[in-house]
Amino acid sequence: MKKVCVHSIAFVVLTMLTQLGGFAWLIALACKWRISVFIGAYILLSVMATFVAPHFSRVPLSCMSDSPLAVQSWFYCVMNRNYVHPDIRAALQDLATEIDNTYPGTKTLVLDANFPFLTGFPLLPHLSHDDGRKVDIAFYYRNAQGGYLSGRTRSPIGYFAFEQGPTNCPDRYLDLRWDLDLLQPVWPDWQIEPKRTRFALQTLASDPRIGKIFVEPHLLARLRLDGPKFRFQGCNAARHDDHIHFQL
Ligand SMILES: [Zn+2]
Repeated sequence: MKKVCVHSIAFVVLTMLTQLGGFAWLIALACKWRISVFIGAYILLSVMATFVAPHFSRVPLSCMSDSPLAVQSWFYCVMNRNYVHPDIRAALQDLATEIDNTYPGTKTLVLDANFPFLTGFPLLPHLSHDDGRKVDIAFYYRNAQGGYLSGRTRSPIGYFAFEQGPTNCPDRYLDLRWDLDLLQPVWPDWQIEPKRTRFALQTLASDPRIGKIFVEPHLLARLRLDGPKFRFQGCNAARHDDHIHFQL
């Protein structure tokens, strides 16, 4: 009974984190060299997903790209969190090209996207990333001297380095609006590079494929941006002053 519980928990956790990891675990259960078989099955399933997912309108973003558009960390690809609807990929490519044309050498970094399969299967902790039509990108940063930091983010995974500003949200403990105050002094003292970040937000807002862009109101005010596509995600959802979320 204890073994069944342990394997059930492993299946659920691996499925929640990577979608395909739970199936790889089930395959490994039938074999003697469990960890080796799990790793092999997971790699095989992940490679197969890159060929099968496009038949379900989700395409993988490359982690090995040297172009102006790149996935921020290999972590997102290894965990199968780099899949998007073809229209999102096209919008990302256009955004990265436009900003690189205007500010040569600029890298646009993709963070969490979607899993390869199943509409309605959320990419935790992003409850809305469940249909391939949403994606997060990192802010563009500059160092203390004002120099643009190409391909760099303040935190190792691009999230949780919050820009501080006024908010009307109350301090609560049981929601997804994490402040992570203890982590903030750990990150380097870099700032948002305002020209590129503003340009990216304006470009997204003018793209007819894009329906909504989530950014905290204090950042929109700081960047002097306004428009019907810019939305506040609400006080119960994650903060959006550490990254940009947009969707079709
Ligand atoms: Zn998002």
